[in-house]
Amino acid sequence: MKAHFLREIVSWYLLHKRDLPWRSTQDPYLIWLSEIILQQTRVNQGMPYYLKFAANYPTVTDFANAPIDEILRTWQGLGYYSRARNMHSTAIMVRDEFGGKFPTLYLDLLKLKGVGAYTAAAISSFVANEKRPVVDGNVYRVLARYWGIQEPINSNKGPKIFTALAEEIIAHTTDNGLYNQAIMEFGALHCKPVAPNCKECPLEGSCLALLNNQVSSLPIKLNKLKVKERNIHYLVWLHEGAVYMKKRGDGDIWNGLYDFWELQEAEIPDQSIAEAKVYTHKLTHQKLQIRFYISHTPPKGHKADDYLFYNAEEIENLPKPIIVKQFLDENKGSLQ
Ligand code: SF4
Repeated sequence: MKAHFLREIVSWYLLHKRDLPWRSTQDPYLIWLSEIILQQTRVNQGMPYYLKFAANYPTVTDFANAPIDEILRTWQGLGYYSRARNMHSTAIMVRDEFGGKFPTLYLDLLKLKGVGAYTAAAISSFVANEKRPVVDGNVYRVLARYWGIQEPINSNKGPKIFTALAEEIIAHTTDNGLYNQAIMEFGALHCKPVAPNCKECPLEGSCLALLNNQVSSLPIKLNKLKVKERNIHYLVWLHEGAVYMKKRGDGDIWNGLYDFWELQEAEIPDQSIAEAKVYTHKLTHQKLQIRFYISHTPPKGHKADDYLFYNAEEIENLPKPIIVKQFLDENKGSLQ
């Protein structure tokens, strides 16, 4: 069954593959360039960037020698600028530590910044024919559907199960790069997330998802992004026309930004304060309910002499969370 799967995928690929410029090269640097550009970008959008980078910087040493500002300018419009910065430091590493020769072996590739198992498997199999199966979103989807795998792709066991299966499949070929290209392309063009072309699929007779009517429910992905509700109670402590503000540390939200004195829930009834309105603010993992209590009285057990207060002009120049800025803007009159 695995040999059959592999054969069908490769035959499909040979008939349907797109003619993409990075497919006609064996240069690991250019393949790396294309892989990183395409990480969060569709092929159509990424193509002109790939061509521009390949023309402006034909070797990894050219890339490394270019000033970062120039790289960022060429990158402009692709978003996720950390990718461009990481690429630049990777290029410098290849220039300085690998003598300008871009690695082709899986384990060497993994030493490079921004290169994970997927990119290392892609480059090492395309260029050096290493037997390393690529396992990315496209591959998870095709495998989960064809084999009817109910294990979530992002559970603890999920990646191990899919990688083990991918390794068993690739064992049936000697052309590892070709198979990897084939399954990636099959996932991207044919067994797509929405509306896969099951009617004209070479695997139609043996695909378990199709036979069991599970095409749209596979692969299964756990929703790990549980949004936590969190209450924040700020004491906006005023003293001689200035406001107490503090810089937040790391290990929590808003690292390095300034906010107010935070009250613990138990402290709230002890304050003789007037409550302002409740603000809600959504972050990726947290939904914040924020209450601001304006007060001229110090928090219990503290005195103003021990703390730093900022006047309106100074506050203007402090970096602040957007919600704190909003509160300050709306309450200018009450903060004297
Ligand atoms: S039959 Fe449909 S779900 Fe199954 S592999 Fe083909 S396209 Fe994907």
